Amino acid sequence: LHNTILELKGNVRVFCRVRPLLHDEEDVVGTEPLVQYPNSTELMGRGIELVQGQGQKHTFSFDKVFGPEVMQEDVFVEISQLVQSALDGYKVCIFAYGQTGSGKTHTMLGNQDQPEQRGIIPRSLEQIFKTSQALSSTGWSFRMQASMLEIYNETIRDLLARPGNGNEPAKQHVVKHDQNGNTTVSDLSLVDVSNWKEVASLLQRAAQSRSVGKTAMNEQSSRSHCVFTLRLSGMNESTEQQVHGVLNLIDLAGSERLSRSCSTGDRLKETQAINKSLSSLGDVILAIGNKEQHIPYRNSKLTYLLQPCLGGDSKTLMFVNISPDSKSLNESLCSLRFAAKVNAC
Ligand code: ADP
Ligand code: MG
Repeated sequence: LHNTILELKGNVRVFCRVRPLLHDEEDVVGTEPLVQYPNSTELMGRGIELVQGQGQKHTFSFDKVFGPEVMQEDVFVEISQLVQSALDGYKVCIFAYGQTGSGKTHTMLGNQDQPEQRGIIPRSLEQIFKTSQALSSTGWSFRMQASMLEIYNETIRDLLARPGNGNEPAKQHVVKHDQNGNTTVSDLSLVDVSNWKEVASLLQRAAQSRSVGKTAMNEQSSRSHCVFTLRLSGMNESTEQQVHGVLNLIDLAGSERLSRSCSTGDRLKETQAINKSLSSLGDVILAIGNKEQHIPYRNSKLTYLLQPCLGGDSKTLMFVNISPDSKSLNESLCSLRFAAKVNAC
């Protein structure tokens, strides 16, 4: 099997991605571009600066920084080894973090109708199917099972459930972990997949399921975490070697702050729940990074679900997605500060 273990400082990496300017947006502060990319030898390809006006600049560095011109394919090249390691039996999590409209879904899923615009989920699966096929000549066979769920208001919803007649009570999905680090979610659809076509139809089913929620799709997707999971079990018929890997690809809820959302009532509860899962994720990653005794996995559904895949010898990559619009300056600054903390792990 592929044996390259990436030489990393710790097991958490952070990539920053700035999306292109959209129609009606402005990317300058005074006369200066809001987002700048320092080109010193030290920060080349890793640095990002936000200009706040009056000569005030905030400089950050990450494992990589992708500017707006960087295409989906070039982003994928940088993560393909990490994806590959799920076939070697690692537990991998790739997150997209950022405010609504910053490019999370574009990064994770992309546009299925345009091949060059496809994001990490389709490209990862395509690569995994290809590699597992190539490995079959050396005696390996893999079983792969996909699931897709949404965490909304600290409640899990199965995005692959077949639509019923609408009269059944909503299923309660309970998360359990066994001693071997295997996770089960009760009543969650697990679908065997072996080629891209099957995955494409699952993604379609999930998109439909998301859009029938009572709020409009965009609104709901900005408030929920979407977790795509692929479990891989490999067995070598000649050596009897076995591997069990997991690949989690997570489109997080929008990171915009409570203050901006002017929320009341249910919306407020909802917003707090989102922030709880997001801030818990930060807390967990920081606690792992600081090698603390107690890791607060149980503080949110998201961190509890992903517990066996965070820490230990698992591998985590976080994309921090940034909008170049000057109206988003404060949100961008918040996101970069959060990501810088994670990056220090
Ligand atoms: P989010 O999921 O964070 O709310 P989206 O991924 O939906 O944000 O991105 C918002 C808009 O910007 C979409 O129209 C998307 O197609 C576009 N977009 C985001 N990132 C890119 C990119 N790297 N290149 C081109 N368009 C992008
Ligand atoms: Mg989105």
